[in-house]
Amino acid sequence: MEIEPAEEVKEPPRIHRLDEPVVNRIAAGEVIQRPVSAVKELVENSLDASSTSISVLVKDGGLKLIQVSDDGHGIRYEDLPILCERHTTSKLSKYEDLQSIKSMGFRGEALASMTYVGHVTVTTITRGQLHGYRVSYRDGVMENEPKACAAVKGTQIVIENLFYNMIARRKTLQNSADDYTKIVDLLSRFAIHHIDVSFSCRKHGAARADVHSVATPSRLNAIRSVYGLLVAQNLIKIEASDHDPSSSVFEMDGFISNSNYVAKKTTMVLFINDRLVECTALKRALEVVYVATLPKASKPFIYMSITLPPEHVDVNVHPTKREVSLLNQEVIVEKMQSVVESVLRNSNESRTFQEQTVEATPSVPSVTNNDLHLSPSPSGSKSQRVPVNKIVRTDSSDPAGRMHAYLYKNPQKYLGRDSSLTTVRSSVRQRRNLKETADLTSIQELINDIDSKCHSDLLDIVRQSTYVGMADDVFALLQHNTHLYLANVVNLSKELMYQQVLRRFAHFNAIQLSEPAPLQELIMLALKEEDLDLESNENDELKKKIAEMNTQLLKQKSEMLEEYFCIFIDSDGNLSRLPILLDQYTPDMDRVPEFVLCLGNDVEWEEEKNCFQSLAAALGNFYAMHPPMLPNPSGKGLEFYRKRKHGKHTQDKGNYSCHVGDGTAEKDEFEHELLSEAETAWAQREWSIQHVLFPSMRLFLKPPNSMASNGTFVRVASLEKLYKIFERC
Ligand code: ADP
Ligand code: MG
Repeated sequence: MEIEPAEEVKEPPRIHRLDEPVVNRIAAGEVIQRPVSAVKELVENSLDASSTSISVLVKDGGLKLIQVSDDGHGIRYEDLPILCERHTTSKLSKYEDLQSIKSMGFRGEALASMTYVGHVTVTTITRGQLHGYRVSYRDGVMENEPKACAAVKGTQIVIENLFYNMIARRKTLQNSADDYTKIVDLLSRFAIHHIDVSFSCRKHGAARADVHSVATPSRLNAIRSVYGLLVAQNLIKIEASDHDPSSSVFEMDGFISNSNYVAKKTTMVLFINDRLVECTALKRALEVVYVATLPKASKPFIYMSITLPPEHVDVNVHPTKREVSLLNQEVIVEKMQSVVESVLRNSNESRTFQEQTVEATPSVPSVTNNDLHLSPSPSGSKSQRVPVNKIVRTDSSDPAGRMHAYLYKNPQKYLGRDSSLTTVRSSVRQRRNLKETADLTSIQELINDIDSKCHSDLLDIVRQSTYVGMADDVFALLQHNTHLYLANVVNLSKELMYQQVLRRFAHFNAIQLSEPAPLQELIMLALKEEDLDLESNENDELKKKIAEMNTQLLKQKSEMLEEYFCIFIDSDGNLSRLPILLDQYTPDMDRVPEFVLCLGNDVEWEEEKNCFQSLAAALGNFYAMHPPMLPNPSGKGLEFYRKRKHGKHTQDKGNYSCHVGDGTAEKDEFEHELLSEAETAWAQREWSIQHVLFPSMRLFLKPPNSMASNGTFVRVASLEKLYKIFERC
């Protein structure tokens, strides 16, 4: 027996208490994360003190100086000694008080925290006093006895040298120029909610204030004075309430942007019980409504004030009190969605919605109706409009078996006048009535399966992560807390579409094909594509037979396909409609042949549950966001467009290089168009991934356990580690 080398037995390390100042500084760093968090706490204190005027002065992004002056009730002389100790507050005494808390502060942590990471000086006067007091604090304690001084009504708090003792944080913040912008943004938000208070925010040394609001009875006036006329004139008032304790109890009022408003970023100003908070789920849910309802790719402006019974709001979930959690959050989010949707719908004429139909079919390269305009390519790529006749390829020998000929060119003709509007309306509505749609037991079982196999950590990643961009043709980069993940968009979209089929079962809206597409031809196309290499026709008879049989089979099943899945097959065996699984998204029509073949070959028609499941899987695979069939022109794929040109024209497949420059102008043009078509397809896909797939996933996807181990999510880096590496550099 081998003897282990005499290794020193490792003693467990000793556990010891951290020094109090260290603990306090760590805690303070959590509450006061950046200058803007200090400003928020100070302004909230001023609001809690019933001020009617609050002014903020900032030097060097807040690192040198933050000064907040108010005309509130002031602080008593006797309280000054403990003012900046941790957990001293006038707003809470029992834990139960938290349930009914109306003030913005309650933990007595803000001022204390500031004294651990900056130099704090307080000047204050209470009513009826002849003079005020000034006193400075460090690490939670008074530096000197309060000195009597002249003072105007209220309190002024000055913080100097923020983070003077946190070198790394100071360094990071020094390099970021946007802290003052964040402070201005914060004050703007307060100003449009607390319209009975006047706010100002000024940079030290600047003559003009960047936020300057006066108390006004009109919210719209306040918005106009803070955000400008262009915002204010494009707003619609919204209001809603619910008093049914079995679902939700709330009152909401606000303003939301209409279809004329244009912005690249969403502005969501949300107050819950007068507290400025963020609620990512609500924000995303409303963005989705905008995407689904309005034609332009503009992000909304939303001001919303929600009042809930205090006991329904947990204010104590975040160190900076920035996020709150709500009882019945999902119900409330859905209610807000439906209010916003109906307000938007009613405020628009159908003219606006006609464009929607075109956008909803990304692969349509052109439209015949002159009133319709393709909206500019959302990703900003230089997509060009190409006349339909030039890129339609119905030639079955074309390697990609392209399908443009079957796409609809003038949807109005088929769907009736208001069709696209109806489509959008009812699809948004359906999304909300998910539970009612599934009444067949087998569908319910399949949906239960999805719920029971849902992986909770992945669900959290899907809901809380931020989309960074596409890493390659298949993987998107996501950030979740401090981690980066690669996420396989093909797998994810396939699963999402599968789940959507089951949830929308029997309640789909339709995508109409411009011309009914003969199943038999589609199946032939798909079969030929399958064995493209065999350049023989000897199997043609067999293929024809298969195509015929499959067409017969699908014709027999057409009633069920139509009723439950919105797949329309007419008595002549033509496919004319497909279901909408996600609003704003049309599948890649190049994949129709493969899908139809799969319907014939892979669906298990015998048993109900298996049948529905395999049909949903086939649809899922068809609608998944696969890379477009044309190679990606922004990478190595560019070669494809060059090689093909010469190969085709010279019929000398093995030797492209000696024919460079041979092509005529017209032939060059043809390749150029193919290239631009490919660019459009790839840009459209990336747009859909960011604006349709990820927002919808956040709302609907229940990621199955299998995704944790099959490479759908790959953790690539921890930002903390990356930061450490950067710090060393
Ligand atoms: P909290 O707001 O959670 O009570 P803070 O540390 O922010 O804790 O403030 C501590 C206390 O100081 C408050 O409870 C309040 O009584 C008093 N205070 C702070 N700022 C002001 C102000 N601007 N005007 C009047 N009182 C203030
Ligand atoms: Mg406070």
